[in-house]
Amino acid sequence: MSETVFTRQPHLSPLSEEERVEILQDPGFGKVFTDHMVSVDWTWSEDGGAWHDARVEPYGPLSLDPSASVLHYAQEIFEGLKAYRHGDGSVWTFRPEANAARLNRSAVRLALPELPEEIFLGSLKAIVEADQGWVPDGEGQSLYLRPFMIATEAFLGVRPAREVRYMVIASPAGNYFGGEVKPVTIWVSREYARAGKGGMGAAKTGGNYAASLLPQLQAASKGADQVVFLDSANDDAIEELGGMNVFFVFSDGRLVTPALSGSILEGVTRSSILQLGRDMGLTVEERRITLAEWAEGVRSGEITEVFACGTAAVVTPIGRLLDGDDVIESAGGADVTFRIRAELEGIQTGTVEDRHGWLHRL
Ligand code: PMP
Repeated sequence: MSETVFTRQPHLSPLSEEERVEILQDPGFGKVFTDHMVSVDWTWSEDGGAWHDARVEPYGPLSLDPSASVLHYAQEIFEGLKAYRHGDGSVWTFRPEANAARLNRSAVRLALPELPEEIFLGSLKAIVEADQGWVPDGEGQSLYLRPFMIATEAFLGVRPAREVRYMVIASPAGNYFGGEVKPVTIWVSREYARAGKGGMGAAKTGGNYAASLLPQLQAASKGADQVVFLDSANDDAIEELGGMNVFFVFSDGRLVTPALSGSILEGVTRSSILQLGRDMGLTVEERRITLAEWAEGVRSGEITEVFACGTAAVVTPIGRLLDGDDVIESAGGADVTFRIRAELEGIQTGTVEDRHGWLHRL
């Protein structure tokens, strides 16, 4: 297949160089967007449909028909990954092929068209090329890339849309939880699940995040930073947080994470940590792990560390767990957590050898 060419509309940033540099000092997360956005349209046809009109345009509001099916039936998927500036000024992403593959798994589940990997990778290159000056170089900083796909067809019938748009926007990012890395407090949602058996939990689609907002509010009202969701079919088994996977470090050198149940999102960070754990000589296990095992393991000292991981938050220690009136105190340690975090960030930012070939130059 010939390479997709992204046409570029000339655009002058509304911000001065000084204003941009000031924003990059402390960008927060997801608050400021770069000057451009990428769009590619898809139109259905009898013989399968085609992607067309790949373009880079000035960032700005979309014009969508009010009957566009995404607004009614949430036929929508997205991805999240980061671009990192290395010491020599070059810009890299981490395992973008894994995000391209996950986007397509989500597309299949949401009856959206799959996007060729070549267009996915090309779209990341196109936005980073257009917005070079927005890739920060400060410690812990990166340019967060948000590819997404929406059903744009103006039609209220409930069937897969025949007009779809794929887009990428970008936002400079600092530390997700703000400031230095400190343990987060987690609250168990007993009332709500984010996904169920046969549902969309393994897909990265807006509805799963909408489902997590109310439990997240409940968590905040109890003084917690994040919610942990349980397996809806098996009340005591741990699934994941609203936007992160979870790991347990055992005193005998085991590294355990909940197995992919069909309702957990398969994190790119999660699968990278499974590999880094093996590299460090840890015994990695993907299996069912329950709240009871968490509580008992912390009490007995068998579980020494618990941490959450994902693109946005990287690797973050989990401190206390609140379960109704019960409090499971912090496992206490963070040694392995910080070793894994340093290794992962080192590879991403180019200071540790990329021995698995995970980096992709933009
Ligand atoms: N679980 C959920 C529900 C998420 O939204 C995310 C963030 N994409 C993750 C886990 C972690 O995935 P990744 O490591 O690919 O960012």
